[in-house]
Amino acid sequence: MTGKVYLVGAGPGDPELLTLRALRLLRQADAVLHDDLVSPQILTLVSRKAQLHDVGKRAGRKSTHQEAIHFLMIELARQGLQVVRLKGGDPLVFGRAGEEMQALRKAAIEFEVVPGVTAALAAAASTEIPLTLRQTASSLLIMTGRFADDRPLPDLRSMIESGTTIALYMPGSDPRATVQELAAAGVPRETPCAVVSRASTPAQQTTVTTLEKLPNIRAQAKPSILILGDIVRLAKRGQLDFQTLSAEVLPAQDSDQREEASRG
Ligand code: SAH
Repeated sequence: MTGKVYLVGAGPGDPELLTLRALRLLRQADAVLHDDLVSPQILTLVSRKAQLHDVGKRAGRKSTHQEAIHFLMIELARQGLQVVRLKGGDPLVFGRAGEEMQALRKAAIEFEVVPGVTAALAAAASTEIPLTLRQTASSLLIMTGRFADDRPLPDLRSMIESGTTIALYMPGSDPRATVQELAAAGVPRETPCAVVSRASTPAQQTTVTTLEKLPNIRAQAKPSILILGDIVRLAKRGQLDFQTLSAEVLPAQDSDQREEASRG
């Protein structure tokens, strides 16, 4: 009998942000193929009997080709195994699950997608930045800083003007280039932004700044996400590093909070 493949979202890192379905499938799996982004704490929840395959593609490291992942998933399912393809965040948000579903369909392997908490939502929760807010932010754009074919970013001017919050995944390792690209796409340089690194994990780091001052902040560990938009003015004070966000960008606040903000 042919097995089944589950394309499962592992969420942003904190095991408590797994769905109950993801947890059940990890406990029942015969084989788990996971990405680098999946945290070690989550991998400890995998059934002991399961084969564990690291098929991560971290930049600069020996990586597994996408086709090899398809081949392995299909082979294991043909052996009759319950296979979990475990991905950071949500499988359908920059997770290449689209290609994997195609390959599974072509091979006539049954599959199911299990959603996960995507990085933008985890980053918003821990920084207390609302991604939408009545009258201020009416839409959310989930976007990558890097297109597969090196196209420039689309025109974002009217979106930012109309109150769109941008969640920029894979912002790249050169903040100057990121600023240039976003500015060329029409994002005003004074737009507030938050850099959230390793959201939801004990190693989380957050800095609130403005687009133009992004290159001035301390480098943060990967993975990190950029949240951009006027709404970032409402970020939680006191526990975040308001490193370079100038006083005039922040709305009025009481003196205690101002002191905390300046201390970072
Ligand atoms: N499927 C994932 C995204 C994979 S693309 C999801 O839904 O979250 C990889 C990018 O996701 C990283 O470059 C980073 O921008 C973002 N990312 C993933 N996990 C993150 C985390 N814990 N904290 C901050 N950014 C994260």
